[in-house]
Amino acid sequence: MYNPKSSNADDFIDHGEILDTLIYAEANKNNLKLVDELLEKARPKKNGNGCTCSGLTHREASVLLACEDPEMINKMYQVAEEIKLAFYGNRIVLFAPLYLSNYCINGCLYCPYHTKNKSIPRKKLTQEEIKAEVIALQDMGHKRLAIEAGEDPVNNPLEYILESIDTIYSVHHKNGDIRRVNVNIAATTVEAYKKLKAAGIGTYILFQETYNKKRYLELHPTGPKHDYNYHTEAMDRAMQGGIDDVGLGVLFGLEGYKYEFAGLLMHAEHLEASQGVGPHTISVPRVKPADDINPDDFNNSIPDEIFTKIAACIRLAVPYTGMIISTRENEAVRKKMLTVGISQISGGSRTSVGGYTETIRPHDTEQFDVSDQRTLDEVVYWLMQCGHIPSFCTACYRAGRTGDRFMSLCKSGQILNCCHPNALMTLTEYLEDYAKPDTKKLGYEMIERELLKIPNENVQKIARENIEAMKNNNKRDFRF
Ligand code: SAM
Repeated sequence: MYNPKSSNADDFIDHGEILDTLIYAEANKNNLKLVDELLEKARPKKNGNGCTCSGLTHREASVLLACEDPEMINKMYQVAEEIKLAFYGNRIVLFAPLYLSNYCINGCLYCPYHTKNKSIPRKKLTQEEIKAEVIALQDMGHKRLAIEAGEDPVNNPLEYILESIDTIYSVHHKNGDIRRVNVNIAATTVEAYKKLKAAGIGTYILFQETYNKKRYLELHPTGPKHDYNYHTEAMDRAMQGGIDDVGLGVLFGLEGYKYEFAGLLMHAEHLEASQGVGPHTISVPRVKPADDINPDDFNNSIPDEIFTKIAACIRLAVPYTGMIISTRENEAVRKKMLTVGISQISGGSRTSVGGYTETIRPHDTEQFDVSDQRTLDEVVYWLMQCGHIPSFCTACYRAGRTGDRFMSLCKSGQILNCCHPNALMTLTEYLEDYAKPDTKKLGYEMIERELLKIPNENVQKIARENIEAMKNNNKRDFRF
């Protein structure tokens, strides 16, 4: 029985409710009056200095996703962009994945790390190798990482992950440091989540892969990940363990996208209803080719236009969440997605174990083909050309603004006085320490323009002074 507050995955991702939602969406997709009303409902509304947004239920958002009217689709994109700008401004947060180990005992049919794949070398970084990778990442300019590992209690036990997090935070090369480590590892216990929290992680990320239980069981035939309920209830355990920033995601292409979309929103609604705070981020990965993996085998690949519509509809339904797109997607797709709600992207990524210390991109342990192979500096330059501020900010998490405290900052209208100057100050660090001359020139032109948008004069003055201090000496890490 559908119950968003239940702690049982079979209730909060109720199969019957998803099927009913799809029928409801199909029946109403040509009801343009309803579609328009839903879009008006989703639009941000002024509230004091800030804005609020009601979001949409999984049923409402599914009607939008099913609607094929070109004018309405354009309006979806417009409102999605309005929401993104209202809560996140024109900032785009940058991060990179760091693959620690590809040892894995699961049998996931879409992942090259699956246990039966004997054609890839298995590799696990030592702490010394992690240091070298982190130095390479710091030398690119990264401040925020997402660590990735297969599930293998013998080769990658929790102690290994915890030690690796300590190592990452301990490296300070030249002016570099990693200030936020997000973690994407297999579902685990409340005790383990407590330890990850104590190690100072940012967001705990776990992709659901598919919300269709039957399909999930087929796609994960062996290994601990086969347990659908344990996997689907992981975010509740993470939150019980004290991690209040959790990141959801579906691996699009495994199952019908309308089903996945409804399931994803129901998961977000469940977290709101039972934990009092929704997902900090939602990722939208698509299955990519990899060693032993052909995405066509799954029969559910989605074209770029539908992919864009999915992202826009997620933004309309879950207005305050950060939305992430990785280098699985090429430049053109990422450019479009940035206009419909995406707020974080990876850049300069290597998806192989030990990839950042290699001069030539290694393919042997790659988890998936990287479509956007530009350097971080090229991505930074391109973002600014497209009118987005590349941000390396990690301030919220370090100032304790996580969970619902982050959400209230989002709603209060303080973003322009807080996140905006932080983005500009971290961009200055990047420009001073890592940027190529053209990037630096374009960056300072952007910073001059963007400083003027800070409404509080005192904040604007302090931000300007800090930026000057960074230009004139080696002082770093200013933040509001
Ligand atoms: N091992 C952890 C787990 O099982 O959740 C997470 C780490 S895994 C390295 C990160 C994610 O990569 C997976 O959750 C999956 O969605 C994604 N992934 C796996 N194979 C992929 C492929 N062929 N193309 C795109 N993404 C893939």
